[in-house]
Amino acid sequence: MWDSDIQTTDPPLGKCPVCDVTIPAANLVVAYDTDGDWPRMIAECPDCTDAVNPV
Ligand SMILES: [Zn+2]
Repeated sequence: MWDSDIQTTDPPLGKCPVCDVTIPAANLVVAYDTDGDWPRMIAECPDCTDAVNPV
């Protein structure tokens, strides 16, 4: 399930590594916590509509 630390005023997730467009938090598809490393996310890019890892 979702981590409930997420608020309605989320900052953008990052940028699409493919087309450098800012990906809003609403485009988040899935996020998973990894042990020790940075959290991994998959989000849909609003431009190329691909599932990417925001950077
Ligand atoms: Zn893109």
